[in-house]
Amino acid sequence: MELIDGNQVAAAIIAELKAEVAGLTGRQPCIALVRVGEDPASVSYVKKKEKTAAEVGIAGRVILPPADITQAALEGIIDQLNADPAVDAILVQSPMPRQLDELKIFRRLSPDKDVDGLGTMNLGKVAQDDDSGFVSCTPLGIMELLARSGVDLKGKHVVVLGRSLLVGKPVALLALQKKAGANGTVTVCHSGTTNLPAYTRQADVLIAAIGRAEFVTADMVKPGAVVIDVGINRVPDPTRKTGYRLTGDVHFPSVSLLASKITPVPGGVGPMTVAMLMKNTVKAFRLHTAQ
Ligand code: NAP
Repeated sequence: MELIDGNQVAAAIIAELKAEVAGLTGRQPCIALVRVGEDPASVSYVKKKEKTAAEVGIAGRVILPPADITQAALEGIIDQLNADPAVDAILVQSPMPRQLDELKIFRRLSPDKDVDGLGTMNLGKVAQDDDSGFVSCTPLGIMELLARSGVDLKGKHVVVLGRSLLVGKPVALLALQKKAGANGTVTVCHSGTTNLPAYTRQADVLIAAIGRAEFVTADMVKPGAVVIDVGINRVPDPTRKTGYRLTGDVHFPSVSLLASKITPVPGGVGPMTVAMLMKNTVKAFRLHTAQ
């Protein structure tokens, strides 16, 4: 079994981006990071994104509206950022508090600043095999991780667990694209799938993104499969100072014994998401400054 080390791959990408940004001219690329409320996971994700931006040479503008902000007020903030010529990229951290309509917020982002690619225009471009837009960072990170690990999806059966807008659907579309590295035969499973293990057992490449701790067990995996674990789940653990530990959607101890390649959690897909956010921000900067 080969461990796919997301930390190592992400560090290489960040080093590449740092060199690329050093060669850019004019103003500094800038990402606005909007985090509504104090969801603990979101607090740590946005901190990590801010820190990585600084490392790459991207200005990070952190905006922290209160948890009870109204839809109209948040849309007002988005409109201001859309209109600000110093801002290249906008990320609104999900999940947002209940009173907010996330999809409406994603759709409000100007497509040329929508670096998490969740708006209608950018998701549509993925379906059209059009590279000019922004691909959602986690799915893009998964594809990059596969490519850099020497996994070509052509002729492979790719089974995706989960159909969320954030991960499952876009990664399925990317794997399906008629392009080098992709060209997979894709099955998408979800909560309405009957006899889910019958599908997962056929997977040459299994991508788990359902948010259920250690859901995928060894009996659900074909020996020799490549397993990409997207899940980040907090499981209570009184032995830890934090009171919890992080696990993926895959039961790593058993599945790693029969997979040919597997991502760990943490240290797999997570770091790639942040690296791809930086990559998309540099792409947005180039778009805005015609470099
Ligand atoms: P989500 O929006 O909750 O979607 C979960 C998907 O899984 C849904 O499509 C759901 O089906 C399906 N599902 C849930 N339980 C299932 C079951 N028992 N059997 C079959 N399908 C089931 O979650 P998400 O945003 O896609 O995130 C998934 C996981 O990835 C979470 O653990 C999240 O923390 C993690 N994540 C990690 C990163 C990263 O950077 N590594 C980024 C984003 C998310 P229905 O559609 O039928 O409800």
